[in-house]
Amino acid sequence: MHLVFFGPPGAGKGTQAQGIVADYGVPQISTGDILRAAVSNGTPLGQQAGPLMAAGKLVPDELVIGIVEERLKERDCERGFLLDGFPRTIPQAQSLEVVLQRLGKSIEHVVSLEVPDDVIHERMKGRGRADDSPATVQKRLDEFRKLTAPLKAYYQERGLLRPINGVGTLEDIAGAIKRAIGR
Ligand code: ADP
Repeated sequence: MHLVFFGPPGAGKGTQAQGIVADYGVPQISTGDILRAAVSNGTPLGQQAGPLMAAGKLVPDELVIGIVEERLKERDCERGFLLDGFPRTIPQAQSLEVVLQRLGKSIEHVVSLEVPDDVIHERMKGRGRADDSPATVQKRLDEFRKLTAPLKAYYQERGLLRPINGVGTLEDIAGAIKRAIGR
């Protein structure tokens, strides 16, 4: 199963991804988690990404593309994977296509969690991450609208987009995702 989880910050991608990982045994690849680990370990990657993340901006495409390419080559991705928070720009999506083609794989479903801005702001109030202050959340939403939202049309054209209402109980949303991916 080769999945992409797509949606604005606070849409619940990480939470719903964990359910899929538990049910289907594919690894979750979260570029946000990988970058946060790099920041807390003080690696060169982390030093480059940290200030951008703290400001709510995307990190450069080359950085995340390299990370994901290496990660997808690992053995646990042989039977599938769930990408969470990647791709986030059209160039990232194009690079992903090239990398997967080289590995003889392709994306089956892009699960798009749809959540309105006011609900996102409410949800973020309850979280404690360093980049969850109201001003930074707004910046992340702006980045999403400008750079990430165009991916919906990109995947729609390829017949891969599965829009899911991201407002509701965790169980309802999980059920809708399972129906959309046909499992
Ligand atoms: P959220 O979806 O809540 O914004 P993430 O954990 O996915 O949280 O991302 C946190 C931050 O990490 C982003 O604001 C961005 O700075 C950086 N980041 C994560 N994934 C990517 C990516 N694919 N491209 C560029 N930057 C990314």
